[in-house]
Amino acid sequence: MENIIILGTGCAGFTAGIYTARANLNPLILEGKQPGGQLTTTSEVENFPGFPEGVDGYSLMDQLRRQATRFGARVENSFIDKVVFDQDKKTLLAGDKKYEAKAVIISTGAAPRLLGVSGEKEMYGGKGVTTCATCDGAFYRNMEVVVVGGGDSACEEALFLTRFCSKVTLVHRRDQLRASQIMAERTLDHSKIEVVWDSAVDRIIPDQDGKVEAIMIRNLKNNDDSKILCKGVFIAIGHVPNTKPFKGVLPLDTNGYLIPEKGSQVKTMIPGVYVAGDCADHVYRQAITAAGMGCQAAIEAERWLAELK
Ligand code: NAP
Repeated sequence: MENIIILGTGCAGFTAGIYTARANLNPLILEGKQPGGQLTTTSEVENFPGFPEGVDGYSLMDQLRRQATRFGARVENSFIDKVVFDQDKKTLLAGDKKYEAKAVIISTGAAPRLLGVSGEKEMYGGKGVTTCATCDGAFYRNMEVVVVGGGDSACEEALFLTRFCSKVTLVHRRDQLRASQIMAERTLDHSKIEVVWDSAVDRIIPDQDGKVEAIMIRNLKNNDDSKILCKGVFIAIGHVPNTKPFKGVLPLDTNGYLIPEKGSQVKTMIPGVYVAGDCADHVYRQAITAAGMGCQAAIEAERWLAELK
């Protein structure tokens, strides 16, 4: 039986790996379908402390991986689809393969929901299509951008982007925002934000260099097509936490995020099972906050394992 298994190789998983490896727990980190997590889809990270010139998302994750393995963490590619958690033994299943551990840290992340339109995947991450204004907004200084969505995230992204961009067009598929009243009011009142109602993105058009030049939208009420020139497309239509195997095992909120125990960000109702990062955080969703939760989960796990002995 393993001392501890960490699920996921994003910032939360690798930070938990560094801490538990340095505590001589010989952690096993299981890597899922997106090795390195969401940061590997970002071109440059400018807000991770310690990198004054910024750092390429892929390199940052590679460095975290090297740091964790340097202290003895083992990384194995395996996608867990079922778990059985008891106080004494945690069983994890990847198809026919079975793992057993005393403690588990769940840091499986979340995936941004995408539109599924032409041009989106081709220009995602560095070519104008992104899902994170906090990460990428500063690259669009004095440019016109589009935000897609009508919830709190879309409003937050649009408001944040007004700090840099000359104009922000919010494209929403209905005639009313889903966002909380205060966020909706701020968005609608902002002089730099124009809302285009009842409209869906039909496709994203590249320029000669393969970067975003415009989007085509369709008015869902009258079927009219129109073009919006823009350099960036920020898609903010929600995230899907990667928590399917834990449904019915641990409490999830209505959007599928893992809910920690009251008074802790990382403890769960099952002793020895911890959560960290975006699978349990729909509020901050930053690389550094995920790393912070990974650290907390590792320290809690280490203390809990020490008490077992
Ligand atoms: P959300 O509330 O689910 O909103 C998603 C938005 O995207 C909705 O307006 C939805 O349209 C639209 N949408 C979904 N799929 C789409 C598609 N395929 N094409 C076009 N539009 C699509 O998600 P969220 O804004 O990420 O918020 C998630 C949770 O976090 C919420 O509980 C929110 O309150 C919370 N949150 C809070 C804050 C804050 O308080 N500052 C900030 C961010 C998030 P419809 O309106 O038509 O459904």
